[in-house]
Amino acid sequence: MKKRIAILGSTGSIGTQTLDVVRRHPDRYEIYAISAHRSVDLLVAQAREFHPEVVCIADESKYAQLRAALSDMEIKVWAGAEAIAQMVTMPSIDVVVAAMVGYAGLQPTIEAIKAGKTIALANKETLVVAGEIICELAQQYHAPIIPVDSEHSAIFQSLVGEDRSEIEKILLTASGGPFRTFTLDQMRSVKAADALKHPNWEMGAKITIDSATMMNKGFEVIEAKWLFGVPVEKIQVLVHPQSIVHSAVQFTDGAIKAQLGAPDMRLPIQYALSFPERLASDFPRADLLQLGNLTFEKPDMDRFPNLALAYEAMSRGGNIPCVLNAANEVVNLAFREDRCGFLQMSEIIAETMHRAPFIARPSYEEYVATDREARETASRCLEGRGV
Ligand code: MG
Repeated sequence: MKKRIAILGSTGSIGTQTLDVVRRHPDRYEIYAISAHRSVDLLVAQAREFHPEVVCIADESKYAQLRAALSDMEIKVWAGAEAIAQMVTMPSIDVVVAAMVGYAGLQPTIEAIKAGKTIALANKETLVVAGEIICELAQQYHAPIIPVDSEHSAIFQSLVGEDRSEIEKILLTASGGPFRTFTLDQMRSVKAADALKHPNWEMGAKITIDSATMMNKGFEVIEAKWLFGVPVEKIQVLVHPQSIVHSAVQFTDGAIKAQLGAPDMRLPIQYALSFPERLASDFPRADLLQLGNLTFEKPDMDRFPNLALAYEAMSRGGNIPCVLNAANEVVNLAFREDRCGFLQMSEIIAETMHRAPFIARPSYEEYVATDREARETASRCLEGRGV
């Protein structure tokens, strides 16, 4: 039996790499449904190659164009956020790859969990925003969540055959991003284009900026907390510029297990689809002899305050990580559009976090309201400052 796969965000970096994995294993996987935010042309090309049952576009203004382009094929064409949420519950789907960018991934992921699907989770914002609800629902509906994020895949792989109560510490590695060695003065004038020359991983624009500010790592600390049930005090970030050790787990007897490899997202994507099996691949290998040295250093929270803000958000808990995410989405976009300076991003996130009313145990509706209000606050802070 082939596994039937739905991909949310099929035209993004994770989406296209997931399709590449599927392309290599036509005997094992079949694409049943794909959705994209607004990239019609690529979505059409993917539909023509993989012949899914359903194709969905989030941006409803693109519906007519998509429908016309696929009118000669027997494919259901849908549009809008509601349609995407409905698509993931279709009975034939086995695995939902959640690879949408940002907060938009939350609702369809919740629907997929409620439908009992296996979730290959690439959208970390889902756990940052509403980790508690997601974990409770996953347990209630017996929906396994398998991480796609390379660090969490490494931790997941290190935990195979282990008892989670024997985890002493998680060692979460970070490349440090393109500004790892910059002074604060140099960071003041960097632009999005400088950050988009990221050294190690090929990623989408939003996560590349998050990686440059280390917010991505802050999110990953929160993601690890929810995925592995480990308090954030036991999650240590190590800057490891070579990106070969993808993360590690230290156990109560002092043993450390890590997963290493070349930085290529297709490996963790493939593992999430094939788990508990491993499939042969011709992905690039990490040649340890050629690499020679692997180095590790402590992250600098003065130059990268986003990491400290993420720890703070998690220790305050409740709706504060949701505020952190919403403010970050606002400033990340503003920075990419040259409406916000690099260092201003953290200042605005901190200000938004301190202004937000605290809710200890938010309902889904309260998360939605928190998200909206935090976006408004961050936008006002942004306007008040100017670039
Ligand atoms: Mg990662």
